[in-house]
Amino acid sequence: MTRWPDIEPPARDATPRPTLFLDRDGCLNVDRDYLADPAQVELVPGAAGALRRARAAGYRLIGVSNQSGLGRGRFARAELDAVMTRLDELLRAADAPLDAFYYCPHAPQDGCACRKPRTGLLDEAAREFFWDPARSWVIGDKVSDVDLARAAGLRGILVLTGHGADERRRLVDREGVLVRPDLAAAIATALEDRP
Ligand SMILES: [Mg+2]
Ligand SMILES: [Zn+2]
Repeated sequence: MTRWPDIEPPARDATPRPTLFLDRDGCLNVDRDYLADPAQVELVPGAAGALRRARAAGYRLIGVSNQSGLGRGRFARAELDAVMTRLDELLRAADAPLDAFYYCPHAPQDGCACRKPRTGLLDEAAREFFWDPARSWVIGDKVSDVDLARAAGLRGILVLTGHGADERRRLVDREGVLVRPDLAAAIATALEDRP
């Protein structure tokens, strides 16, 4: 698994915080097939405002993304870096920056530990952050996102942007998964939930 930006993270913050683990493509930004061009980075409408509200409410925001385009040779690390730089710019301009972003660079057949729904990206995040599992969520547009939530003992929300409308049909036999139209609605649900 890999962190973006690829810097040594600061010392672990010992305060458990409510945390949103956010899928990237089809959740934060409009899905493009193997997005590799920074000019094609476009935030999902309403996403930035919702992220800002979550930050103001004390939530940590951590990106978790499968980027198998790297492992499949569809794009290079420099292209991923350019896309991430652009996404970061857009989020900062909206006063909604992520606290960290972790991605899996492998292809499905690599059998790595970090490709969602496996928990490697969260295991990596746990070296840097504590979260309160009762108030933390995984939000994304694929079944692998809500299955990651279950594997990590968190709650999951499937958004219907990106691949969500198709993926929803594969949600059979998964109890407790919430479905919301988009990231803004998903975050509103998380913020309303006060155990
Ligand atoms: Mg996605
Ligand atoms: Zn991986």
